Amino acid sequence: MKLKPGAIVEGHTSHNNITGTWRNYKPVYHQKSCTGCTLCVINCPEGCVFMVDERKFTCNLKYCKGCGICAEECPVDDIEMIVEEK
Ligand code: SF4
Ligand code: SF4
Repeated sequence: MKLKPGAIVEGHTSHNNITGTWRNYKPVYHQKSCTGCTLCVINCPEGCVFMVDERKFTCNLKYCKGCGICAEECPVDDIEMIVEEK
């Protein structure tokens, strides 16, 4: 994409950036002790964490880059980072 000074990049272009390919670790959402605090949703830099049910969250691995922030922020350690199998 060619950028011009002062230009506003068109919307939804981040969908074309498949950040899941960057990943060396991936989060496992155990969905056992989740309190539904949504800290994982709020802090994910890719915005790829979503609720599947009350007190059950997961992420879209197509965009999860494996940064581990969600696991770090989860107050009840319900998210575990594991090595990505390639
Ligand atoms: S590991 Fe990082 S990118 Fe993946 S869901 Fe957690 S916070 Fe989001
Ligand atoms: S941060 Fe942990 S406790 Fe909070 S919603 Fe996410 S998985 Fe559940």
